[in-house]
Amino acid sequence: MAGTASPPISPSFEVTNPRTGAVLYTVDEPGPDDLAAVYSRARKGFERLRAMTIAERLREVGKLKTYIQEHKETIVQRIVDETGKPRIEALMTEIFPTLDLIQYYEKSAVKILRDQKMPTPLVMMGKKSKIYYEPLGPVLIISPWNYPFNLSMTPIITAIIAGNSVIAKPSEHTPLRGLIEEIMEGAGFPSEFIQVVYGAKETGKALIDHQPAKVFFTGSEAAGRAIMTQSAQYLIPVELELGGKDPMVVFDDVTLPRAVQGALWGGITNCGQTCTSVERILVHAPVVDAFIDQLKTAIEGLNTRDGHEDTAQDKSLDVGCMTADFQVAKVEAQLADAVAKGAVVHCGGKRSDDSNAFPPTLVSNVDPSMDIYSEETFGPVVTVVPFTDEAEAVKLANDGRYGLSASVWSADEERADRVARNIVTGNVSINNVLATQGNSALPFGGTKSSGMGRYKGPHGLYAFSNVKSILIDKNSDKKEPIWYPYTEEKYGLISALIDASIQGGLGGFLKTAKIGKKLEKFTKT
Ligand code: NAD
Repeated sequence: MAGTASPPISPSFEVTNPRTGAVLYTVDEPGPDDLAAVYSRARKGFERLRAMTIAERLREVGKLKTYIQEHKETIVQRIVDETGKPRIEALMTEIFPTLDLIQYYEKSAVKILRDQKMPTPLVMMGKKSKIYYEPLGPVLIISPWNYPFNLSMTPIITAIIAGNSVIAKPSEHTPLRGLIEEIMEGAGFPSEFIQVVYGAKETGKALIDHQPAKVFFTGSEAAGRAIMTQSAQYLIPVELELGGKDPMVVFDDVTLPRAVQGALWGGITNCGQTCTSVERILVHAPVVDAFIDQLKTAIEGLNTRDGHEDTAQDKSLDVGCMTADFQVAKVEAQLADAVAKGAVVHCGGKRSDDSNAFPPTLVSNVDPSMDIYSEETFGPVVTVVPFTDEAEAVKLANDGRYGLSASVWSADEERADRVARNIVTGNVSINNVLATQGNSALPFGGTKSSGMGRYKGPHGLYAFSNVKSILIDKNSDKKEPIWYPYTEEKYGLISALIDASIQGGLGGFLKTAKIGKKLEKFTKT
């Protein structure tokens, strides 16, 4: 399909600092020839990567780790300039997870991806069974703007270790232009292994038309649906990491101040622009008033900053600004709809100026008629809904089309575990928030409209692998008894063999061996 790629709608776009509004640079969209050249290079990169051992690939990725660690302040600055997040959040949730993932795979990838011996059933005696994990080819990774470094680097690194070359398309809102190339060059990492293509949605679509071996997408539900539809035309496998409306279930036996602080950080970190941010706080009725009071006080104590003044050097800023203007408008529309239908805003709710600094907001008295109840709110807004018992808590937690992540808070670990099992979701933190994704060994992904597939942990490497089954037999002058010709006698023996092998145990083993002996006569070639 190369060459049929649709041209970009606009030839260039500006990237701005969401806090100051300053234009940082202009990006020229690539044309069809550029994309064809990228794929051609990616195929060469793939040939090189697939021939490398896992240990060799890890050595290359290790160079990136060293460079990122040594230049973390420069990278943090680039992230802060384009996202408006507090410096410490760029450090903790963009740099650290990237380094930690590399470290995790340095320790585990050789074992995860090595050829695996599998059992062979008695009826196939004398044969050997194995699984090989092989790379797929050049893969396309499309990333969002909320964690532009982490959510690009995490799948990129995983794909490379599994032996795939990568074409990465970052979000047009936060492309971090040239950063990954700078890291590769500085680290001495082969540039044909990762190529970054800068552009918006149309460029993303054109890249899919070139038929990568897999599309790994992180972003909105609507875009995920469009990408899956387009990929289906070519039967390209897709992994979709989409939105969420995560519940936090708080029982009345918890130590309330910790749960309140968990809700505060889980709901407000990254200015609420986290796919797994706490959005729906479900609180046991006996403690709901105390919870709302304490959370309101905690929110009002956060260090926020209005206006357009650059906050990039402020290491004690708690809440950054929102990254995308269109998301500010969406959050405001959801709040207006909720208030018009009777919701109570306890704090925040309105910007004090025209900047992207949206205040942390606490809302209660919400109901299913309101968008804020069921739609993803990609801003620093949390809602509180009371529940009366465990069954109602589970029902409310499962009420909605998303199923990305959740948290359950209770001093009773058995109850917390029961509730965690009953929530239909991809990840649950117990007595913590957003904690599952803090562990690189745990797979991450969603259920329902939150997407499909898992990355990170062993599953991440398998997600970027062709899982190949191998069965090895010896060269011989015999044929298999089940091969032609079919006879009535063979039918009877096969029927008896099925019964014996299903019977199992020593009796079944002996019968299977006896029937196997009788079948020997059908093995002459
Ligand atoms: P988005 O869907 O608008 O864009 C994401 C990326 O997809 C961008 O690079 C964009 O250019 C590209 N894109 C959009 N439409 C496309 C198409 N039809 N074909 C090819 N490429 C296309 O999402 P966003 O606004 O950047 O990110 C916010 C969303 O991402 C939220 O819904 C959030 O919950 C979700 N998210 C999910 C996870 C997760 O791991 N599940 C993590 C972070 C963000």
